[in-house]
Amino acid sequence: MNPKLKKLVVVGGGTAGWLSAVYLQEQFKKQDKQVELALLEPSNIPTIGVGEGTVDSFIDLLENAGVDIQEFIRESKGSLKHGIRFKDWLELNSEYWHPFYADSMSSEDIFKLLLTPKPFHDIFFNTRLAKNSRSAFSPDRRVATGLHFDSKLVAAYLKKLCISRGCKLIDAEVQGISRTQDGSIEKILCNDGIEVSADFFIDASGFRSLIIGKEFQTPFVDFSKYLICDQAITLQKPYAEGEVREAYTTSSAQKFGWSWKIPTYNRTGFGYVFSSQFATPDSLHDEFSKRMNLPKDHNYKFGHVKFRVGHYEQSMVKNCMAIGLSSGFIEPLEATGLLFVSKGLQALSLYFKDEINSSEINRLMSNYYNTTRDFIFLHYKLTKRNDTDFWNHVREIPTPPSLQERLNILKGCIGKLEENRIQFVKDLLFPWDLRAYVLILHGMGFYQNSLPELADIHDDIVDSLDKKSENFERLDPFLDKLNEAI
Ligand SMILES: Cc1cc2nc3c(=O)[nH]c(=O)nc-3n(C[C@H](O)[C@H](O)[C@H](O)COP(=O)(O)OP(=O)(O)OC[C@H]3O[C@@H](n4cnc5c(N)ncnc54)[C@H](O)[C@@H]3O)c2cc1C
Repeated sequence: MNPKLKKLVVVGGGTAGWLSAVYLQEQFKKQDKQVELALLEPSNIPTIGVGEGTVDSFIDLLENAGVDIQEFIRESKGSLKHGIRFKDWLELNSEYWHPFYADSMSSEDIFKLLLTPKPFHDIFFNTRLAKNSRSAFSPDRRVATGLHFDSKLVAAYLKKLCISRGCKLIDAEVQGISRTQDGSIEKILCNDGIEVSADFFIDASGFRSLIIGKEFQTPFVDFSKYLICDQAITLQKPYAEGEVREAYTTSSAQKFGWSWKIPTYNRTGFGYVFSSQFATPDSLHDEFSKRMNLPKDHNYKFGHVKFRVGHYEQSMVKNCMAIGLSSGFIEPLEATGLLFVSKGLQALSLYFKDEINSSEINRLMSNYYNTTRDFIFLHYKLTKRNDTDFWNHVREIPTPPSLQERLNILKGCIGKLEENRIQFVKDLLFPWDLRAYVLILHGMGFYQNSLPELADIHDDIVDSLDKKSENFERLDPFLDKLNEAI
């Protein structure tokens, strides 16, 4: 552990800021290191208030932050997510799934079985859990599971936890920054003459990116050439009487983008992500309301968020690291916002142990953003939709060369993946795994041929996974019990 680190200040109290604070608090404790921790959060500037679905590794991040998972689910009005159901992406009325991985299929099996004449996603355990509305969560037999939650409650819960463990909260707004002679941050200058000094700073100020972007003027790598969506409208709706919670996120392709449906414990969160080149927020209210089965004269209030896709060339500059939206963002089709937070925090923790340096951190983060841009672009790439100008435009966007190279290799692996190629292919796709790519590609019709003789094997696998899923409690009673157990 770097001996010079005595005080660390986090700037920003959104999910990224509080996650950073609780995670580092726990890491310092494990290493028996006394580091004074403070977080600067102005009560007059709201958080972004979206970001309610996670990937499966998010639970690992919470555990490494010393967070009790069941308490977290309860306090954030959370629920479980086994994967994403993609509707209407290839063409209208089409469907495929991207479940989290909890299977023991080898890479060779995956490449053999993808020639099934039936829906490939159905032979993954998490798809069966999702379709059978099972919980698959208990401390002793957990299957890879993501979460759905209320983002405002997440930040509030982590804040309470972090302060109770000794973090100091400073309610102040950043107005300037003072630097040392070598250009490092010396102090944050706030309203009412408040000055906050530290040895290291985390910039968790959201899209404002007050330190890495504004103060250091780090160049921004813009991804909008490939990913054209830049705004979202949102809405939350309480459950109707008797409505069953779905244990998955639904992502439906829409006329001018796509929409999410994220069921939490007590309501469903909806969002419509779109490109401002093709629509305005107001023009989408009717289409979106119809999709959500809202009556014409409903008085639900829509939220509206603008965003920029891309990332800063460096996430770490001098004695500051950007974590969260202040470092970068890619549209939330695979819930990657909090994945970047966790990747950034893991890297920072290694940095504090002197195991990697700042240029390695920056290379690592750039690589995460670039490969994720390609992975998200892949979801649009093979669409056959031609019902609106948006889809006609998207279909014609040239594929990034780095993605084209991966597709050429994956095309060559149909029906087989030679032993000596597995590691090479995996390395090429990292941090997205082979299975994730193949599921999206299969769902989007990339693999045209099929072998009829695989149909029986497919059915046997589905039957046995369905039986296995019956060992897990239904989601609704599981969540009700968890919420009663206070
Ligand atoms: C439309 C949309 C949907 C998303 N969906 C998902 C999803 O499903 N899954 C996922 O993982 N991620 C998702 N994300 C990303 C996710 O919302 C963020 O990664 C996450 O909320 C973390 O945000 P943040 O803490 O970086 O920023 P914010 O929540 O914006 O917090 C910024 C903080 O900085 C503070 N601040 C601002 N200005 C100042 C100042 N002058 N002085 C001091 N403090 C200041 C604010 O008060 C606030 O506390 C989504 C993002 C968008 C835009």
